[in-house]
Amino acid sequence: MRNNSSNSRPRVLSGMRSTGKLHLGNYVGALANWVKLQDDYECFFFVADWHALTTDYADTSRLKENSVEVLLDWLAAGLDPERCTLFVQSHLPQHAELHLLLSMITPLGWLERVPSYKEQRENIKEKDLGTYGFLGYPVLQSADILIYKAHFVPVGEDQVPHVELTREIARRFNTFYGEVFPEPQPLLTPAPKLPGTDGRKMSKSYGNTIMLTDPEPVVRQKLKTMVTDPARVRRTDPGNPDVCPVGDLHKIFSDPETMRKVDAGCRSAGIGCIECKGWVADALANLLNPMQERRRKYEQNPNLAWEIIEAGDATAGAICDATMDEVRRAMNLSRDYEPTTKPVGAQ
Ligand code: SF4
Repeated sequence: MRNNSSNSRPRVLSGMRSTGKLHLGNYVGALANWVKLQDDYECFFFVADWHALTTDYADTSRLKENSVEVLLDWLAAGLDPERCTLFVQSHLPQHAELHLLLSMITPLGWLERVPSYKEQRENIKEKDLGTYGFLGYPVLQSADILIYKAHFVPVGEDQVPHVELTREIARRFNTFYGEVFPEPQPLLTPAPKLPGTDGRKMSKSYGNTIMLTDPEPVVRQKLKTMVTDPARVRRTDPGNPDVCPVGDLHKIFSDPETMRKVDAGCRSAGIGCIECKGWVADALANLLNPMQERRRKYEQNPNLAWEIIEAGDATAGAICDATMDEVRRAMNLSRDYEPTTKPVGAQ
């Protein structure tokens, strides 16, 4: 089994749907971890525009723009094209070919039991998800991973079943056609609880996000209206940062000294919520201002970002080609033809 790697570091593959500008939840849940992984792994990160189509297929008018926004936020957050490969999924049709071939060997029952399939069909009522593409998106994910022979896939706990499915598909392929694919392992990403401004999970569909591109005054304004510990009705009531969404933000973004002041001040009613929210706003400004500064460089020259993608497409494409060559040979689908028996009449 060749791994197509000229790099001695273990290979990591991950993608993010092209849903437009990213929010703090996307940063904390995945992107911050990706930035760290760049130094220890050979990282491939892709904008998953085909995956976006599995749920948002009816209107593709903003698809490309959304991909660019995601890319700009990645670069702003510190993904460095010198240390990782960034590409767009749809630019590499090899993923689609492998998806097709893997779909031939994937039993329907494996897909129907993927937990997110049922969950999303029950929760997303406003879209018709009774499509072939939606049922099959874990196979596309498997193709995305296996085509790079990735050793690790950074995922949250809820995505582990997808990596397990990829491993099962790899095993089935190898059993039928010979050892081509290594089995990737999940690399668990710690995902601290990140509430939105209304206290629910931060999500664009709840309208409770703080975007990575929100200017500082907007962040401060959003935090002013953020819900707090409901037991703390008056300034003189003591509160509890462990049940307060603002307290959750402090735990992620504030330094230990501020955290101590919040904990003591909140529980003794020594500080007010406005003051406390101001400290979170300071921590977020420290994080977001430099990101926004970096983003501006690419916003002013979008071709710069697109050149990064073109280079990434080329690097990733070379690996895809090598793997697909192996896959086609293993399945007797390669274009070369070597007759195994001599033509009639030959000596
Ligand atoms: S002081 Fe801070 S942690 Fe305590 S309830 Fe107010 S906002 Fe929440």
